[in-house]
Amino acid sequence: MTTIIDGNEVADGIQDGIASCVETLADEGVTPGLATVLMSDDDASETYVSMKQRTCEELGIESYHHEIAPDEPASTLFDRIDALNDDPAVHGILVQMPVPDHVEKRAVLERIDPAKDVDGFHPENVGRLVAGNARYKPCTPHGIQKLLAAYDVETEGADAVVVGRSDIVGKPMANLFIQRDAGGNATTTVCHSRTKNLAEKTRNADVLVAATGVPEMIDGEMVGEGATVIDVGVNRVEADTEKGYELVGDVEFESAKEKASAITPVPGGVGPLTIAMLMYNTVKAASLQSGIAVDL
Ligand code: NDP
Repeated sequence: MTTIIDGNEVADGIQDGIASCVETLADEGVTPGLATVLMSDDDASETYVSMKQRTCEELGIESYHHEIAPDEPASTLFDRIDALNDDPAVHGILVQMPVPDHVEKRAVLERIDPAKDVDGFHPENVGRLVAGNARYKPCTPHGIQKLLAAYDVETEGADAVVVGRSDIVGKPMANLFIQRDAGGNATTTVCHSRTKNLAEKTRNADVLVAATGVPEMIDGEMVGEGATVIDVGVNRVEADTEKGYELVGDVEFESAKEKASAITPVPGGVGPLTIAMLMYNTVKAASLQSGIAVDL
């Protein structure tokens, strides 16, 4: 029997812990604050931001939402980030990606105060992660570590294969897998669009993480018997539904399920963890900035 990993259940458990940390901070007069900045008309980005705001509300985290019209100059965004950097009520800042083409993404990430960079994408925080001294682990890979731990999937000595090398998922996932600590110690292979004989590599994985953005590209033939399959992909594909689309992962769920010992569904797998870990980082930011210890 293949275990279907329930991301909502794991995220709920983590969020219960976060809610009690929020109470600890509130008892000392500190309300964690997360600023979200949206500079896009993209439907999916709007949905992600509103999900983050809603979760903040549920957990007692103050959310400060800022919208900037996509045709505004980059300086408008930078000025807003500077103001948020200086605002003591804001402990975490998240600029929803993608930003418009005329705004340099790297410059945005570098503008955010590293102490408030709850996405963990600022070069200082990337450096700390690689050095094994993470301040904020990027939310999606950190969430995947939590999922694996919740289902007792051992990474130590395991062959972990990450398909995708983006700065937000693939690279930090690989960096976490190679750390000498819990959730790490895996022998890690990173694959991408130039990888030769991809299926040979993926079939060798004990833990396979698919983060390509290519709908259902990993099928059962590419999954080794008994592997744990983590599907990060969230892809809208045309479908005969009310919205005109449905969400599918980067893994062909039905065929992969036949081979895997455990697998995440889409939706309801990795997604809820990404949001939970953003809340986690925000509370950690509030704790670090206020000097009030919490038990995260
Ligand atoms: P990117 O587009 O930034 O990166 C995709 C990576 O996949 C690249 O490294 C690319 O290789 C690689 N790739 C693309 N095609 C292939 C192929 N045919 N074979 C092997 N490798 C390939 O995507 P992200 O990492 O940002 O996101 C990946 C997916 O995860 C998307 O569906 C996204 O929506 C989803 N996502 C979901 C989240 C969640 O919370 N569930 C959070 C973040 C993302 P190369 O570098 O060579 O181009």
